[in-house]
Amino acid sequence: MAYEVDFLPVGEGERCGDAIALRFGNLAGSRDEQQVWVIDGGTKESGQALVGHIKKYYGTDRVDVVVCTHPDSDHASGLSVVLEQMSKVGVLLMHQPWNHAEDIHHLFDDERVTRSRIEERVWRALQDVRELEKIATRKGIPIREPFSDDCKFVLSPSKAFYEQQLANFRCMPEVAKKTQMQRLIEALFAKAKEAARAAETWFKETLADPEPDATSAENNSSVVLLLELDGERFLFTADAGVPALTEAANRADALGIDLKNVRFIQVPHHGSKRNVGPTILNRIVGPIKQTESYDKAAYVSASKDGQPKHPAKKVVNAFKRRGAQVYATQGRTLWHHGSDAPQRQGWSNATPLPFYEEVDE
Ligand SMILES: [Zn+2]
Repeated sequence: MAYEVDFLPVGEGERCGDAIALRFGNLAGSRDEQQVWVIDGGTKESGQALVGHIKKYYGTDRVDVVVCTHPDSDHASGLSVVLEQMSKVGVLLMHQPWNHAEDIHHLFDDERVTRSRIEERVWRALQDVRELEKIATRKGIPIREPFSDDCKFVLSPSKAFYEQQLANFRCMPEVAKKTQMQRLIEALFAKAKEAARAAETWFKETLADPEPDATSAENNSSVVLLLELDGERFLFTADAGVPALTEAANRADALGIDLKNVRFIQVPHHGSKRNVGPTILNRIVGPIKQTESYDKAAYVSASKDGQPKHPAKKVVNAFKRRGAQVYATQGRTLWHHGSDAPQRQGWSNATPLPFYEEVDE
């Protein structure tokens, strides 16, 4: 058994996204002794890059499992290229929001909000996932909705938690306007605060626990995956915020798994400080180490010129304090692999991000 995980760079400038490929099994053996997965595809360009990467480095044009974590374009749109261009895809794991209209329409305190009105809204608004469903249907790729209720490597969302988030998606009736207005106000405040800097030390943490609605419902609908590859566990968090990560931690507890022992974790939402705080990090990464030492790796998909926003320096520091070295894509592919993975010519060791003595507020 061996494994390799690749985080491909997504986007130019400030925009971020996720495009992840991984392979495990007998990597020296035949294709049938291996599993190839794709977790999100970023933009169309990174989707194209994923296809090329899988063919070149994994030597196959078949993908066993494609996961679409949530419907935001920076994760979902590139998957259309993967579905189109791969000769075979075993299964597409993706939420189909229109299937849940019946369950959620009564959550709205307005009888004009009918099942069909909800269906129409999500159908119109969530074009990227609609496109994925269309391609999958045409190519005969089965679709399954990943819920923690019945999928053992999904830690979040459960079906109930997903439907709660779905009712608060931007495209939903009534709540939509309010959320947009709230966001505008929040963005203005955030801008004003951004100019300020603060000093941090190993033991002085300025990162605060974010409000439960600090990140979008779409982000909190993200599929959080705990995969076991070659005896090691990997936690993929997509754009999950504190509510979703708490769901995931609770689920792990129920399964008797201590996430603090997981050695590989994805920093959620491109390193945004709206998605994590000390409380959840103590649960899923671990407590602050007494001295600077690292026994984990944290990977973050962040754009090249995303500084200072993504990854937020105080988030990088928070992971490092808890023993996780942080590596950011920032224009390059990050390759994480076990000792049995095949060699790659010309690839060098990635440099972790430093501990920052000054962070942005
Ligand atoms: Zn994202």
